[in-house]
Amino acid sequence: MRVGIGYDVHAFAADRPLVLAGVRVPHPRGLAGHSDADVLAHAVMDAILGALREGDIGRLFPDTDERFAGADSMRLLAEVASLMRQRGFELVDLDCVLVLELPKISPFRDEMRENLARAIGVETDRVGVKATTTEGLGFEGRQEGIGAQAVALLERA
Ligand code: MG
Repeated sequence: MRVGIGYDVHAFAADRPLVLAGVRVPHPRGLAGHSDADVLAHAVMDAILGALREGDIGRLFPDTDERFAGADSMRLLAEVASLMRQRGFELVDLDCVLVLELPKISPFRDEMRENLARAIGVETDRVGVKATTTEGLGFEGRQEGIGAQAVALLERA
């Protein structure tokens, strides 16, 4: 068994769509970033890469590389899942938390779980997504950005 943790933050920016686990969530602002800035997908990739001892997404998909400008993070996640299987591991369980004041995530939670599970190639039951606010405290509470954390459990296949 291997366990990995992932954490990511992106700042809000005007004129950007808000993409979380591949779901375009209606909101006046999206997240700034070199790729599609899918903060949840990024935390999930880092959790899996951490469990594989393969560094982080910055090493695999450098933001200095033009190939990843505007990249669909769910496609990158599928690449990480394929690396996981090349290394002889399978995903047992994944849980995630989004840290944000707004928008409300519950109407999109199941679609996010399904998207993550599909990209990784596991059943939806293995993927959990939830959200919390910080009671107005910190950058998330001031609605300057969104944080995401993920923990992944892998086993040698
Ligand atoms: Mg990121």
